This record gives sequence, structure tokens and C-alpha cells, in this order.
Amino acid sequence: MVVSIPIRIQYILTLQLFLDWIGITMLFHWTNVFFILTGIIFAGFFFVFGISSLIEKEMRAANISFVLAVVSAVLFSTAFLLPVEGRSILAYVLFAVVLISVILFFLPFKTIVQPDAKPGKRVDERDIMFARARLQPGSAAYEDYYQTKPETKIRDDLFRKEPGLLNEKARFYDPILFSTSKGGFFLTEALRDTVDGAVAGSKVDTSNMDLSSYMKSLARYMGAIHVGIAKTKPYHYYSHIGRGTGVYGDEIKIEHKYALVFSVEMDYEMIGANPLAPGVVESAREYIEAAKIAVVIAATIREMGYEARAHIDGNYRVIAPLIARDAGLGEIGRMGLLITPNLGPRVRLGVVTTNLPLKIDDRNLDPSVIDFCNICRKCASGCPTQAISFEARQDIDGALRWKLDSDRCFKYWVQCGTDCGRCMTICPYAHKDNYLHKGIRWGIKKSWLFRRFALNMDDFFYGKKPSRRTPPKWMCSIQHKIR
Ligand code: SF4
Ligand code: SF4
Repeated sequence: MVVSIPIRIQYILTLQLFLDWIGITMLFHWTNVFFILTGIIFAGFFFVFGISSLIEKEMRAANISFVLAVVSAVLFSTAFLLPVEGRSILAYVLFAVVLISVILFFLPFKTIVQPDAKPGKRVDERDIMFARARLQPGSAAYEDYYQTKPETKIRDDLFRKEPGLLNEKARFYDPILFSTSKGGFFLTEALRDTVDGAVAGSKVDTSNMDLSSYMKSLARYMGAIHVGIAKTKPYHYYSHIGRGTGVYGDEIKIEHKYALVFSVEMDYEMIGANPLAPGVVESAREYIEAAKIAVVIAATIREMGYEARAHIDGNYRVIAPLIARDAGLGEIGRMGLLITPNLGPRVRLGVVTTNLPLKIDDRNLDPSVIDFCNICRKCASGCPTQAISFEARQDIDGALRWKLDSDRCFKYWVQCGTDCGRCMTICPYAHKDNYLHKGIRWGIKKSWLFRRFALNMDDFFYGKKPSRRTPPKWMCSIQHKIR
């Protein structure tokens, strides 16, 4: 007896056979869903990373990311060509690898670094290269200094023969941009006499007021990014005046108990072409910003009846990075600059010392920065003049730190005419403060293993010696090639 199947069911069965034959029903197998979703996540991540790198003008990172986005899309979407068993095994393996990596990355391996201790002696400002460079041959200060430090004379006379900062004979001379920088430094120079002044005769009643919080907010309102307060220590102060206001060679007294320290951000685009001229334009601008904030806060405190002094470019009595570190703003990295949590070394610092009673911030030693600097050394390999050490930290005047040959560094500045800053630009901590890099910085802080992984990825995407980025568009209006 022939059983007749209704025409509708016959149609459905034929369609089912056809779909099976071309593999459409298999599309909904869990392995395919897994591969499609994983493919979307990988390709999406690389695509977003590529766009973000394009915006950051990191062309190498952008190109690699776009290629990886395409490769992941193709690889994962063609996984369904494998037989079902093969696909299942591959999916389990991939899942296990991702799971194990995530667990390993965030296992709380404790990072142990030796504490850096306190410097045993104060630095004499006359010994720093900026002070030595200002000594005029034949002057009393010149004769006096080289009588006591004859070993530095030959070296210093050599860098005096170089063209000098912002000089037209310097290697990276640019008539417009050097003039712009000089314009900026002119203003900071003009502010040097405003760092101190008369204190109001009567004190404002500050009882029951949280002035620490107010002063920090005031600094932020005026443009500061990170702000902290430290109790001043002898090693924060230079021992003798080497430049700025006051009498050269005078002993520096520790007059103030507290120091409010803050950072201002160096523009990511402007420093991308370091050591070329746009970077020194940005340095001049940020020294003005830091000076403006410090001078206003110090004057505010003096108006309230308390002593206060601003410490600005060319007129410091204190060593700003040490105070910033002790106030919890960051750690001092291999290149000798403060590494802040979200901008790395891409900051300039300003300080106000005062006797206004303030609540101090504790330093939270962040071993992740020291550990990362131990393995990274990118600034050392990128430094055009090998001024940064590749070695481990060593005991210098009682404190553990990386040795920096500041004389070599300065010699390069006076040859180029700019303040170089190449090390600051290429530091992996100096990337833009967007969500992608925030996530990577979070991993670097949390995980020993992730730090190693992140460093390799930084080398892969940006290069072991990253290329210069192009200066901002507005600079093209001067219609000449920036050297
Ligand atoms: S480049 Fe590397 S080694 Fe140098 S300061 Fe930055 S993180 Fe440390
Ligand atoms: S500023 Fe330039 S020369 Fe100086 S340490 Fe950094 S990279 Fe080297």
C-alpha cells in the first residue's frame, strides 16, 4: 500500500535535505556559534584598536591591527569548514587557553621590589647641568665653581662650544617654532620674581576648614591633573642656590613644612615628534601652566597670612619629582622622571611649599612600576645619546635608583636646540589616556605576567624603537617641513 505524504511535508523534507547538503543547518551547531562570536570579539577588538591607533597617529600599530582584524575575521568564519569533531576539539582548546591565560594573568603573584630608601644627602643645585651651563666664563661664580670642581671643567667647556638651547645653529632649528618656544620661556622667566612675596599681616581663621582639599581642588580648577601634599624632608630641598632668584651659592634653608605638588599634562600630539621642535614648544607651554598654578596658589596662601613659595621652571629650591613621589603622585622610573598612573612621564610638575598646616598624603609604593621598568628599558634603547642606564637600580647617595648620565643628555639638548624628550614619548606608560590604554595600564598594575605580555605587545605594535609621529595639523600652516 502506498502511503501518500502530504505535499507540504514533502516540501519541508526536501528543503531539510537540501539545507543539510549545503551545510546550512550545521551553521547553528554550538561550535560555529562559538567561533563566530570569538571571531567578532577578536576582529572587533583589533578594528577598534586600529581606529584608536589611527587617531593617535601610530601608523605601525594601526596597520598591524587592521591586518589582524581581517585575519581573525577570515580564520574564525572559515572554521566551519572543519569536520564537527575537529571543530569541537579546537573550540575546547581555544576556550581552555583563554581561561588559563585569564587565570594566570590575574593570579596575585606578589611583586617584590627593594624599597628605594631616602637619599642620604641633599643635592647642591650648583652641580646640576642647568646651573653649570649658566656660568659665564670669567665671572666670579665660574672661577669659584671650577676651583672647587675642576674635574667637571673640561666636560662643561665642551658643551659650551655647542650651539645651545633654541639656538639657530642647532640641529633641529626651526625659525618659527624656536621663536614660539622663546615666547613661552620669556613669560616663565618674567614670572620668576613672583614666586615669593609679602605675607598678609593677619591670619585668616581656618579652623574647621578642610584647606588641604580646597587647595587641591584649586590646583585642579586651574588645570592640574594630579595633586598631592607631602611633608617636606631635607632631601627634597637643594642644599645651595644654583640658579633663579637669590644669591648664587647661598645655603638653602628648609623654611616650609609642607609641599603641595601637582602635574600638568604634556600634549600627546605635540611631543610625538620629539626630539624635534614641536616638543620644546609644548615644554614651554606646560612650564607656563605649572608656573601659573603655583604662583597663584602661593599668592593665595600668603594673602591668607601664611608663608608660601612657588617653585617654577628655572627658580626651584626643591626637587619636584622626589616630592611628587613622596606625595603619592607616582614612582620615579628608569629615565629619572615621575611615572604617573594614567599619563606616565607625560607631565610637568609644579610645587608650592608653605607653612599653612595641610593634611599630608601617604606614598603608596607601587612595585609594578619598578618591576615594569626593570624589564622594559625602552627609554634606554631609544635615547639618542645612551644617557639612560640598561642596568638594574643601584645605590646612589643612599637611595636605590637608575643611573642617568644627565651631562650626556644635556649635551644632546645643546646640540639639537630642543629639550629632546624622546624617552618620555616612547615610554609605554605615556600612551593616550583612553579606555583601551586604561585597561592595559590596569593589567600592568595588577599582574606580573600581564606586564611581560604587555611589554611584548608594545614592542610588537609600536616597535622596539617607535617611529616619530607627525606633529599636529595646525603646525602645517607654517608651510615648511618641520625637521
Ligand atoms: S620606557 Fe620603560 S624603562 Fe623607561 S621609564 Fe618607561 S617603562 Fe620605565
Ligand atoms: S631627554 Fe633625550 S637625551 Fe635625554 S635621556 Fe631622554 S632621550 Fe636621552
